[in-house]
Amino acid sequence: VKERMPKLDTIDLRKRHVGESCKLFFRSDPIKIIRAKGQYMYDEKGVKYLDCMNNVAHVGHCDDTVVKSCTEQMAVLNTNNRFLHDNLVLCAKRLTATLPDSLAVCYFVNSGSEANDLALRLARAYTKNEDVICLEHAYHGHLSSLINISPYKFEVGKFPKKDWVHVAPIPDVYRGKHRGDASPELGELYSSEVRDLIRDAESQGRKIGAFIAESAPSCGGQIMFPPGYLKSVYKHVREAGGVCIADEVQVGFGRVGTHWWAFQLQDVVPDIITVGKSMGNGHPVSAVVTTKEIAQSFRDIGMEYFNTFGGNPVSCAAALSVMEVVERDGLIAHAKATGDHTIALLNQLKPKHPNIGDVRGQGLFIGVELVEDRETKEPATALANHVITRLKESKILMSSDGPDRNVLKLKPPMVFNKEDANFFVSVLDEILTEIEE
Ligand code: PMP
Repeated sequence: VKERMPKLDTIDLRKRHVGESCKLFFRSDPIKIIRAKGQYMYDEKGVKYLDCMNNVAHVGHCDDTVVKSCTEQMAVLNTNNRFLHDNLVLCAKRLTATLPDSLAVCYFVNSGSEANDLALRLARAYTKNEDVICLEHAYHGHLSSLINISPYKFEVGKFPKKDWVHVAPIPDVYRGKHRGDASPELGELYSSEVRDLIRDAESQGRKIGAFIAESAPSCGGQIMFPPGYLKSVYKHVREAGGVCIADEVQVGFGRVGTHWWAFQLQDVVPDIITVGKSMGNGHPVSAVVTTKEIAQSFRDIGMEYFNTFGGNPVSCAAALSVMEVVERDGLIAHAKATGDHTIALLNQLKPKHPNIGDVRGQGLFIGVELVEDRETKEPATALANHVITRLKESKILMSSDGPDRNVLKLKPPMVFNKEDANFFVSVLDEILTEIEE
């Protein structure tokens, strides 16, 4: 594979014709990737990078099975979902087979944002209530409706919070409002925050339509909920007449290593789930899955839901083959074994490097929170930035996240293996040692 023009020309053309709000990774020295395979990406000079950031390339970049099924379908037919097609119904069957029985009805869309926007419409159609509870630092998508429930954006962009939005404290047991070991007590404490928020809203005459949260908040800094949190929150929300939406866009399809879906870690059944990113291994396909009752209430509004590209035969071929590969290659168990190994290695680094404040996660969803001081937990934002840059120099691609951008965020393709983990952790060890010296 060859680049079509020299890198400087690519940069120049981009500057001239692409909106500046679309930001590149490593802005001061961006990388030009021209091909990728498995967990590796290659730049225009053939330099190989270990990819720790692309949860979209779920079963590995350019996986042969996925590529084959998409290209074969592309050569035969691609059209909209108003014609009957087997791929769409097979995809719906396969997807719902991974879910609790009540989540039986699918809508296919093209992005996580479209999925979450539709989820809000479904929730409002069913409950007839407008208000939405979301979590601090959450991100649910780029549509106007979702910026409103994405404090991750409105804090940064200084967008005012709308009256119908209620923001609950993020259940971050390391840095959040209530801290300590991830115990059921903390789960209860954080869920009572949601209960209080509901009471406040109701006292102002407002009515809750939905609670939406990532089943493990990624943008919030790779947070794992304390035990019992969602169970208790769902109870409060349902008692108030709302429905519960699980955003599985980043964490779904087996990433957490023990289950297909991260909400299963909390032993709950949402009313609506949204999936995306990894669903098509890079091909744009996303979905909303809900109950028959909610789907019926949406139908009863009387407005047709049509989405030109949603559920087209190629997208469904991609999604079907991703689910098949996850199963065929035992990638969920692989994510568990690799994740356990990686977390153990990171925990071994902890005593050695005082800047490592916390190591958390499950499966191939892992966060390493860097701090200036373990006592004060002052976020080491500049250090995290430096580590990301140094990792890149060592040909490891990693991003940081969380409100203070001090959490190293590991969410690699699911084929990431123990050797990759050893390499990443040994380079991280070197970088932190170098800084301390
Ligand atoms: N939900 C979550 C949790 C996300 O991380 C994202 C994308 N980062 C979205 C929704 C929106 O997905 P998309 O970019 O496909 O619209």
